[in-house]
Amino acid sequence: MIIVLKPGTTEAEFDHVIERIHELGLKPHVSKGEHRTIIGVIGDENKLQAEPLQAIPGVEQVLPVMKPFKLASREMHKGDSVVNVGKVKVGGGSLAMIAGPCAIEGSDILNEIAGNVKKAGANILRGGAFKPRTSPYSFQGLGEEGLKILRDVGLAHDMPVVTEVMDPRQVSVVEKYADMFQIGARNMQNFDLLKEVGQSKKPVLLKRGMSATVKDLLMSAEYVLAEGNPNVVLCERGVRSFEDSTRNMLDMSAVPNVKGISHLPIIVDPSHATGRPDLIPPMALAAVAAGADGVHIEVHSCPEKSLSDGPQALLPPKYADVMKQIRKLAEMFGKTF
Ligand code: PEP
Ligand code: MN
Repeated sequence: MIIVLKPGTTEAEFDHVIERIHELGLKPHVSKGEHRTIIGVIGDENKLQAEPLQAIPGVEQVLPVMKPFKLASREMHKGDSVVNVGKVKVGGGSLAMIAGPCAIEGSDILNEIAGNVKKAGANILRGGAFKPRTSPYSFQGLGEEGLKILRDVGLAHDMPVVTEVMDPRQVSVVEKYADMFQIGARNMQNFDLLKEVGQSKKPVLLKRGMSATVKDLLMSAEYVLAEGNPNVVLCERGVRSFEDSTRNMLDMSAVPNVKGISHLPIIVDPSHATGRPDLIPPMALAAVAAGADGVHIEVHSCPEKSLSDGPQALLPPKYADVMKQIRKLAEMFGKTF
């Protein structure tokens, strides 16, 4: 950590800073310039809270050298993490091809969609049983009944399943039926929920909050890792912006950005990012080209009858088309799914 003192700091203020550094069991390394004094603090930065030091009179800035997310950072883990979702590997060259309807609406329709996406190459089936809807009057999901349908359809098609959990009280029931928890954008900073899924060993798909920075996303991942669950897959799904021709603004740079500073796999969800079926295929391809560890796409065989997110759903033949292109691109980059 580096402490920068304000110009004109008094001797007494300087002495006080040095005293605090010693009290914390660390060593100061002082560099007095013509206008400013800079103190390098030597010792285990992980053991102290840098923020309160900012309150000491005479201190202008406290600059941590280490990233605030530790377990999620590449400093701690050099190689790429690989997360197992059932028998599907995510990361390290293996892509998660997650597909399915926004919500589980019934057994027959889910079965039909699952058959189609599996044939096209999807390896993880998605579907929401607990839906975070903007309006309380919109379809809220089938709850446990939906989870049972998802599990059975997943088993019938030999696909692991991922579904959203919105509340710590839902974790045990979701854990019973699903192979992977999804934490949605609206709950990325629901810290109690993050801690609860952190107690499980099941993998977690953590979506970026709609106004969350990359650092916020990694700090949320840190909550899960800190509880002892190392199986986190991040998901870029767009952030809110001034642009209103798309549902959200897809931050594709988040993929290589995260990969530079974290070992966790990161996938892209072009469905919620764009909200537009015409933009989903090109953005899915761009995601793979950017180095994403997978793509998450909503598919419905009759979007006009869909109970949630119908307008953004891809029809199965369109999904099959983009998957053909993704396969070629993946091969070019030496990735498999
Ligand atoms: C979803 O995946 O259906 C969903 C609600 O996504 P998000 O949390 O990214 O909005
Ligand atoms: Mn949706």
